[in-house]
Amino acid sequence: MAIPRFWREIPSRYNLIGTKCGSCGKVDFPPREICPDCGRKSLGKMHSFRLSGKGSLVTFAVVHDAPAQLEMQKPYVVGIFEMDEGVRLTSQLISVEPGDVKIGMRVQAVFRKLGQQGEAGVIHYGYKFRPSL
Ligand SMILES: [Zn+2]
Repeated sequence: MAIPRFWREIPSRYNLIGTKCGSCGKVDFPPREICPDCGRKSLGKMHSFRLSGKGSLVTFAVVHDAPAQLEMQKPYVVGIFEMDEGVRLTSQLISVEPGDVKIGMRVQAVFRKLGQQGEAGVIHYGYKFRPSL
């Protein structure tokens, strides 16, 4: 039976754990079973790899309409971040006013509540980024 994708990804969402290819050294996030560059050569050579959480902002957008179930301030900033390991992630940029956001600024991953579903309260956690100090 297939494990729902969301549950499978929890450990990697929570710890920023990706994979590193034992053949070419490429880092991927979320984790992969096969290296996109090496294909079958990488089978059995993929290792868990914890990202440092440090990187820089590649591009961003200011979002004015947040979905109701996400308890977010409006407007908020969504960015594409390039990690120092070479992986790109999309997430929210927090702790900065939209007008102060600059492409290329250094960022650090932090873990935050992403939202809550229904009254039973399934709480989703994940990574966001804030400017590094
Ligand atoms: Zn590879």
